[in-house]
This record gives sequence, structure tokens and C-alpha cells, in this order.
Amino acid sequence: MADATTKPTPLLTPTQDDDGAPFWTYAARGELRIQACAACDELRFPPRPCCPHCRSFDSTWRKMSGRGRIWSYVFPHPPLLPAYAEQAPYNAVIVELADAPRIRLVGNLVAAPDADLNSVAPERLRIGAKVQVVFADVGGTVVPRWLLERP
Ligand code: ZN
Repeated sequence: MADATTKPTPLLTPTQDDDGAPFWTYAARGELRIQACAACDELRFPPRPCCPHCRSFDSTWRKMSGRGRIWSYVFPHPPLLPAYAEQAPYNAVIVELADAPRIRLVGNLVAAPDADLNSVAPERLRIGAKVQVVFADVGGTVVPRWLLERP
């Protein structure tokens, strides 16, 4: 069991199962890709085996521009795990993708790809702010994070 004071592994969405694994494989290459139905072309997130629109089991992974806007955000409050408490106040954002406004990803707004979770001052966040995806190795997994287009 991990020491509670060590840097935490991020909670991953999508999960790293058979359906979600391609998301993380592309993320490790620095690509934000979203699962799309190969039959009707609808995007879907989180990844799953069957298209909810046409029930096809065929899918592809479409590359996104990586641009989006902050749809919502929070600042977690105590009690927090010790490794997170050290970085508070930090944000958790929901980003709506510019290429696919119905697709929203949870992540963190940071000042640079490898910056700490608290690297953006809370007063800098606002709903609708344009953001750009970046990727960083966090606890051994490359995860998408978000930078303000106009810092
Ligand atoms: Zn479909």
C-alpha cells in the first residue's frame, strides 16, 4: 500500500480497461483522441464498446485539436490526502472540447505541463476561459492537463 504522503496517482478517467486503454496509449504519445463510432461517426466519452446512437460495436479514435473551454471548476476543501493538502488550494476543472462540445474531460489547470497542481492562482479561473491540452507524466501515467490560452 502506498504511503499517504507520497505523490498520489491521479484518479484516471477513462479507466485503463480494454475500452479506455487506447485513450492512454494516445495520451502517452501526446495526442488527445476521443472514441468515435465507425458506423455513424458520433463521438462518445467515456469509451465503451457499443455506440449509444446506432448500437455499432465498431469504433475508431479521432484526434482532437486539444482546444477547449472551462465548463466548470472546483477547489477541493479539507479533508484532503496529505500529498494533496500540501498543494491546496488547487483546482479541478471540467473542460468542454472545442471540437466536440458534448465531450467534457476532468483535469487540472496548470501553469506549465509539469507544474504543481497549485501553479495557477484561484482568481485566474473563470467559466468559459479558453484552454489548450498539454501532457505530463504524473505518477508514471501520462495525463492530459490544461493551460490557459491567455495566461
Ligand atoms: Zn454509431
